[in-house]
Amino acid sequence: MYALPGPPLDPPTLLFSISLVSGLMSAFAYSTARAMPEQRRCLNEWARANLAAGIAFLLYFLRGHIPFAISFLVANLAVLVVPILMLRALARLVGHTAHPALSRGVMVVGALGVVPGALAPELSVLGAVSVSGGIAVMSGALARLMWTHPLARSLPAARFTGAVALLATVTFCWRAVNSAVLWWHGTQPDISTTAGSHKLSLLIGGAFIVAGSIAFLTMVHELRRRQANDRARRDGLTGVLNRSAFFEAARQRLTHEPGGRFAVAMIDVDHFKRINDGHGHAAGDVAITHLAQLVADSSRQSDLVGRYGGEEFVVMLDDADAEVAQAFGQRLLDAVRNAPVHLPNGVSLHCTVSVGVAEGLHATGQADLDLEQSLARADAALYVAKAMGRDQVRSEEHTSELQSQSTISYAVFCLKK
Ligand code: GH3
Ligand code: MG
Ligand code: MG
Repeated sequence: MYALPGPPLDPPTLLFSISLVSGLMSAFAYSTARAMPEQRRCLNEWARANLAAGIAFLLYFLRGHIPFAISFLVANLAVLVVPILMLRALARLVGHTAHPALSRGVMVVGALGVVPGALAPELSVLGAVSVSGGIAVMSGALARLMWTHPLARSLPAARFTGAVALLATVTFCWRAVNSAVLWWHGTQPDISTTAGSHKLSLLIGGAFIVAGSIAFLTMVHELRRRQANDRARRDGLTGVLNRSAFFEAARQRLTHEPGGRFAVAMIDVDHFKRINDGHGHAAGDVAITHLAQLVADSSRQSDLVGRYGGEEFVVMLDDADAEVAQAFGQRLLDAVRNAPVHLPNGVSLHCTVSVGVAEGLHATGQADLDLEQSLARADAALYVAKAMGRDQVRSEEHTSELQSQSTISYAVFCLKK
């Protein structure tokens, strides 16, 4: 009733093959880790998982030729470690914090089932149940991570890994339940790894290791490619978008959402030259990085933040009008006033910034020109903020106010700069 005939494969050959492939996968993951320092930790974790699988399957293969306690106890504990390490590697890869409690619980329950079996072979079914159950739980957690984590969901290989993990969950669940039910009915199930009925779970386990490894390495490469692209778009000092990436992203937005509401803000650090002159360029760099962070923190996730050049930043505020832009500028001024720059030598610098904001224009219908004109208006407003004494936010209406003043007073404003 419970026994499956299984495919016509020779179990010892299967065990040896899986052991060999796992060993090779482990060596490959270790060598790849050396070439990719940023992904080194997760690749090493994956290499360890494959090494554990290689050892476990080699010990299963050697059962009968080595002491049973080793081929049973060590092999089963090693095989249980495989999905635990795989989950850790995948969690690390996508930046998720794995819950160690689940892994610890699975290891403890697995050990509680395996140890009696190593001492008395008639109790080995307990090991089969606890180890298969443990593998099922960990594979289930792995499938869940691959299908629910936002970053993993964006990777096609993760969905494939999730599917293979789910298959492993079902298979090992079946194996655990089947062994338990047979035992409950007084039949000592053949839980040896060379039993014909075990071939299916061996095949699934082998597929999990090989297909999972290929999918894992594919994910590593895809994430590296994304990171490299992202790095090329970021300003090396501050981490915000560089000028060309900002313009490209802003143009794309305007092209894809023609007529959509937006506002722009130009930000310039006040008297920045004094920081460089008084504390050195390294201190100036610390200040620019700090201020860029404040600009990014004051904006929303959907806004684009770029370094326009030097100590000037530009922000494209998504779905915003002049009022929203003004509020953003005020928020930024407050943040800068309240968060002095802490230099490595212990000195704290109080900085201020001037901000010019303007509502986005759709005057020409051409993304490039619309953006250029909107930024020109924000720049004019920034100029007013500077002329009016700095540490303030000004919008385009202030520009016209200033322009309406007499030429002399306008010149005085400019001279104050
Ligand atoms: P204002 O209030 O009128 O803007 O005065 P300011 O001193 O900030 O303006 P100015 O344009 O005269 O000086 C900007 C300085 O920023 C000049 C330049 O040396 C410095 N700067 C530009 N980029 C960097 C950088 O990446 N690191 C450092 N340390 N300084 C930079
Ligand atoms: Mg400047
Ligand atoms: Mg400046």
